[in-house]
Amino acid sequence: MSHSIPYKSKDTEKSENKVKNLVKDLANSIPKTIKHFFPRFKQELQKIEDHRKKSGYEISELLFGAINLFLFKKGSRNSFNNDRSDHDFMSNYEKLFGMRLPHMDTVNDMLEKLKPEELENFRTKMIRELIEKKVVHQWRLQGKYFRVAIDGTGVNSYSERHCEKCLTRTSKSGKTIYFHNVLEAKLVLPNGLAISLATEWIENEDTEYDKQDCELKAFDRLSKKLKKSFPRLPICIVGDGLYPNKTVFGICEKNNWEYIITLKNGNLRSVWEEAELLMLLQKENKLEVTTILRPSSATKKKQVKKTKHQWITEINYKGHILNWIKTEEDGKKYVFVTSLKITKKTATQISFSGRLRWKIENEGFNDQKNGGYELKHKYSEVSLNATKNYYQALQIAHMINQLVVLGQKLKSYFKKKITIKHLWTELLAFLKYGFVDGEYLKQLLETRIQIRLE
Ligand SMILES: [Zn+2]
Repeated sequence: MSHSIPYKSKDTEKSENKVKNLVKDLANSIPKTIKHFFPRFKQELQKIEDHRKKSGYEISELLFGAINLFLFKKGSRNSFNNDRSDHDFMSNYEKLFGMRLPHMDTVNDMLEKLKPEELENFRTKMIRELIEKKVVHQWRLQGKYFRVAIDGTGVNSYSERHCEKCLTRTSKSGKTIYFHNVLEAKLVLPNGLAISLATEWIENEDTEYDKQDCELKAFDRLSKKLKKSFPRLPICIVGDGLYPNKTVFGICEKNNWEYIITLKNGNLRSVWEEAELLMLLQKENKLEVTTILRPSSATKKKQVKKTKHQWITEINYKGHILNWIKTEEDGKKYVFVTSLKITKKTATQISFSGRLRWKIENEGFNDQKNGGYELKHKYSEVSLNATKNYYQALQIAHMINQLVVLGQKLKSYFKKKITIKHLWTELLAFLKYGFVDGEYLKQLLETRIQIRLE
């Protein structure tokens, strides 16, 4: 029996070349994106306090190494170290970033000692630059407010006590698990962008406690951090069913923030009762919107989506003036309380913003867990300090990658069966087997162009 190698068709070859060119552009667009949005990136990294006695590497090289562990979606330190043994990979890496890639053990030693505030403050500076450059201004709610979703997630869990700050949960069978959760304030945009603005770890002070730390206690700390980092930013807090309470309303009012918070059945009973009563009086507070959707390719039939909003204004809840909105769409019902004034003009946007919170799950945490960033991987088994620094490095890398994807209009390719995962696999292959043209890149970096996010 003879074996034959199947010939590639012309079409296959053409589309392969297309991907190759796309990947080459993608490689160049990473340093270009960093330089465009954050021109002082390297200098600011270099300013971070160096706790090492001596090392052959600059602090910026080590920190950028940690960020690149996530930027390239390596998934583990070991995997990145394997790439390091490849001469062409190292040469291309240096050409792209003008920095060397250190061994991940050296990076890890540094991250064990680095204060987590350092990378967090560095990230804050990056976001301030995006805001100053008005990169995301076009997506503000009512042309004014930046929507900030509050959400918690689990990072690592262990079957044995990992450190004195672990949260613990004991099941009915008597088995105890130890874990670390984090609470995030994320800027969310309708185009899917989700950028971490502030991070607060939910953790106990030590093993002796009356009551464990929890999300609402962490929100109090997170809000202080958010206010300190962005004191004048007009913010609209978007929270889930855990957040409609007096303390949260008070924190928002004190900070001059607006809020849109999910109200579940059973939450704020007096508000529900008043809303039901007032519904009979405020009958004019209604809006029905019909959206014509693109015809489905199967039936060619025009599809119509009907959305019904109904709202009640100025319900007094323990001294806080709340507005209440109920939206029905696709057989689902959503209820929110908000500090924002609801009118026929604003109802749709307010309800949409409340539902946008799910973006944080879909585009933010979900991407960080399953999109190659491996949020739940134990990058450090032993050091909580290093874990927190890896987490910050991940947030920075995720922000840069999202800017690359939106700036390079890559989303249009994803519809054509090229997935983001495939593109990143090809990117790593390019760095190993391809050639970064240093001269071309230098010119590209010096050219002033406008990067617009889509
Ligand atoms: Zn622990």
